[in-house]
Amino acid sequence: MKEARWWKKVEDAVQCELCPHRCKIAHNRFGLCSVRQNIDGKLYALAYGHPVAIHVDPIEKKPLYHYFPGSKILSIGTIGCNLFCEFCQNWDIARATADNVKNRLVEPEDIIESARSSGLLGIAFTYNEPTVFGEYVLDIARLAHNAGLKTVMVSNGYITPEAIGDIYPFIDAANIDLKAFSQEFYRRYCKGDLQSVLDALLEIKRHGTFLELTTLIIPGLNDNATEIEKMIDWIVKNLGVDIPLHFSAFHPSFKMMQRKRTSKTDLDCARKIAINSGLRYIYEGNVATFEENNTFCYSCGQLLIERRGYTIVQKKLQSSVCSCGAKIAVVQ
Ligand code: SF4
Repeated sequence: MKEARWWKKVEDAVQCELCPHRCKIAHNRFGLCSVRQNIDGKLYALAYGHPVAIHVDPIEKKPLYHYFPGSKILSIGTIGCNLFCEFCQNWDIARATADNVKNRLVEPEDIIESARSSGLLGIAFTYNEPTVFGEYVLDIARLAHNAGLKTVMVSNGYITPEAIGDIYPFIDAANIDLKAFSQEFYRRYCKGDLQSVLDALLEIKRHGTFLELTTLIIPGLNDNATEIEKMIDWIVKNLGVDIPLHFSAFHPSFKMMQRKRTSKTDLDCARKIAINSGLRYIYEGNVATFEENNTFCYSCGQLLIERRGYTIVQKKLQSSVCSCGAKIAVVQ
């Protein structure tokens, strides 16, 4: 079993320092994420080496639309999560407990070899919340960089500055969920807090990780025009107009089975607000799209990357500059 990296002793317990919950965990008990346990006065990372999902995905599925578009990435996830979203769309692994994990140990070297021998871009930590298996992420990401592979986090951004400082120097790109722009929403529906996520976004940006954002639009909960305007204003001011934002459609799931699914019109409204507030690249996900899945030049309007689902239909952009001279925020 792997001893955790981010923790300290406190009185009769240990305190985990991996995410802002900073759980104080008594002997033999687990942290809120259910995959970190105090055993005999030490904290252990139970999900280390135990992926429950390993797949090769298009990078567009993360979603990352501006980072090596059209490439494939080895995607791994374990169990556990440090937020408790009532609308969770991966709750079967997010809410599983360590007793459910009976699979064999997969060493970081095995993951690297699998990605390298298949000629993939790199490794994505995804499906459940990768922060809760931060030690595994760190060991794999270090080796990945030595092997010339890229690394991607798909995360809720609920992570302490200490852990960001250790992990993100080895992370090339991330898609972070910004679930809403209200503290009440984060408290009530996710058992987290908005400010910690905003602080993490600033810190991750400071480390130079390429960033995209995702917001799941849930009708009646976080689709208020004023809230979306505030969110976009914060993004523009703090992360810049070039950051790609994905508005994704909710479908009834987990504890929100009675709420109606998000319509294309709902996403169009959010997208319009974001465009009017100055963001350059706004996409729609989980609905049938027309041009809302494509990348256009913000200056001349030319179509640069055309997508159908997760597939690239055509890519006219060979460098990071449009033929009109505008610089396009795409890494390839
Ligand atoms: S990672 Fe898990 S154990 Fe650690 S503070 Fe967060 S919820 Fe608690």
